[in-house]
Amino acid sequence: MSPALSILEKTFGYSSFRGQQAEIIQTMIDGGDALVLMPTGGGKSLCYQIPALVREGTGVVISPLIALMQDQVDALSAVGARAAFLNSTQGAEERQRVEAAFVAGELDLLYLAPERLRVASTADLLDRGTIALFAIDEAHCVSQWGHDFRPDYLQLSVLHERWPTVPRIALTATATAATRREIAQRLQLTDAKQFVSSFDRPNIQYRIEAKQQPLQQLLTLIRTEHPGDAGIVYCLSRASVEKAAEFLVENGIPALPYHAGLDSRVRAANQNRFLREDGMVMVATIAFGMGIDKPDVRFVAHLDLPKSVEGYYQETGRAGRDGLPATAWLAYGLQDVVQQRRMIDQSEGDLAHRRNLTAHLDAMLALCETIECRRMQLLAYFGQVSEPCGNCDTCLFPPETWDGTVPAQKLLSTIVRLQRERGQRFGAGHLIDILLGKATPRVTQHGHDAISTWGIGQDLSDQEWRGVVRQLLAQGLLAVEGEYGILVITDSTASVLSGQRKVMLRREAPKRSKAAKKATSAGLLPEHALPLFEALRAWRAEVSRDQGVPAYIVFGDATLRGIAVTRPASTAELGTISGVGEKKLEQYGDALLALVAGSAMVSGG
Ligand code: ADP
Ligand code: ZN
Repeated sequence: MSPALSILEKTFGYSSFRGQQAEIIQTMIDGGDALVLMPTGGGKSLCYQIPALVREGTGVVISPLIALMQDQVDALSAVGARAAFLNSTQGAEERQRVEAAFVAGELDLLYLAPERLRVASTADLLDRGTIALFAIDEAHCVSQWGHDFRPDYLQLSVLHERWPTVPRIALTATATAATRREIAQRLQLTDAKQFVSSFDRPNIQYRIEAKQQPLQQLLTLIRTEHPGDAGIVYCLSRASVEKAAEFLVENGIPALPYHAGLDSRVRAANQNRFLREDGMVMVATIAFGMGIDKPDVRFVAHLDLPKSVEGYYQETGRAGRDGLPATAWLAYGLQDVVQQRRMIDQSEGDLAHRRNLTAHLDAMLALCETIECRRMQLLAYFGQVSEPCGNCDTCLFPPETWDGTVPAQKLLSTIVRLQRERGQRFGAGHLIDILLGKATPRVTQHGHDAISTWGIGQDLSDQEWRGVVRQLLAQGLLAVEGEYGILVITDSTASVLSGQRKVMLRREAPKRSKAAKKATSAGLLPEHALPLFEALRAWRAEVSRDQGVPAYIVFGDATLRGIAVTRPASTAELGTISGVGEKKLEQYGDALLALVAGSAMVSGG
């Protein structure tokens, strides 16, 4: 057996490599460089951890996620690897202890914050020990155009200059082809072997629905499909984070807020509780989540429209890292589009920058309004061709389409008339009032009950008209401008008005929450395995509390499910379950076997 496979089995308790892991690991063991693009949950960590264990010396891991280094080190210690970190949270004494261990060759892995490399003493320290490899985690942080740019990443090219013989591996879960080129260039990895995995996350069910009462819709999702599950809820503003978290707590869902306006200690404490306690819901701005390793996040919900498909994919990717079923759910409405356009209009930066933001938003809108498979569209965005997936809302409940040319013409011609004839421009609400023939004060004040399109849209409801507006925006047949969300025509509008272009729209989806597949952590277990699974979860909660580590570091849900279903009766049988390596077998084997035996008596008696 190869040394890599032997470590995979004995240390990590897994029976086979996933995807390209074996090739990547071999490249590193042989001393080559690698650039690895793998989706979240794909198994990037093993790609540098195993070579670090096989090669002589210490694997040095550069990671921007200081707050998570302790957990990463704990996870490695839990499987018997020797790991430590150096960052600004440590005292001098602790730091000296770690440095001495590194120099003495007593560490398999050393985690470093990128800013430490600015300090000359860090380079001197690295010279005194033996470096097995450099791993650059979250490598997209080097991209100046990306949303996670860290200036300290730019100087990581020194690694290559100062230690030219040490193999390097850069890893990221988020990169379009352009970002990938930028990473390779800036990190001087243009000669490295590139490993690009499929970006698909088949276990995540993608769903996007129209926003009506978003908080109620969210509550229904949690209560019907994810009771007791851990999840993340993303909001755009701090205020909406606070509001949503309060709402969930009032309704009996354990939820915590996380945003940049909170005191850093509160933030850290909330993050800790989310990682350590079972079934917590984190309500957060996008400031939350990068590098969160928690594998059992069962749903990611967006209450506001994300700014780009790339961001959306990264955020939803935090669901279901353990490969078990998970839900990515987004509610979006017309107001989101108006608000985001306004933010772009008001943003600092030049025209090119605003065009770039607009292009990102348009791609996101197109995803929301598509009548095709969501996953196909997502993957296409990352340059990957695929077939309809069978696990997104449009595949599961194909939307009906209808010919919306006439309503589109009614709306567009109203806009054109008001603008051409009277030089007036309005937002969606007022235009819909005109079409519905509602004599609001504003309508009568402007005399809009006298124009020819007044009341000609009564065949659709207010809600349906909003759907029409959203879809015309997504198709580029309408644009929104300025602070008040004014609707204006585009270059393509004329073709619709002249009847040259047909407009196909999707019907507003019927309620379907009941039909949706269950993706709870316990939901897919056979009935008879449930009591043991719950007993194992309770045991795990106790152990993780005693040791002060997150529950998933003790065992992941997938491992507990494996035990609950196969009911191992001996240490040897227990050892064959995925996620049970030698160290954990020795440490927890007896307790687990006793739980299995105990629950057998209950269900048998
Ligand atoms: P990433 O960093 O790519 O998001 P991780 O390295 O955190 O992913 O791995 C995700 C999950 O998959 C972890 O729980 C990890 O232990 C598990 N895993 C990784 N490789 C394997 C494998 N070969 N077999 C079984 N489980 C694996
Ligand atoms: Zn699909």
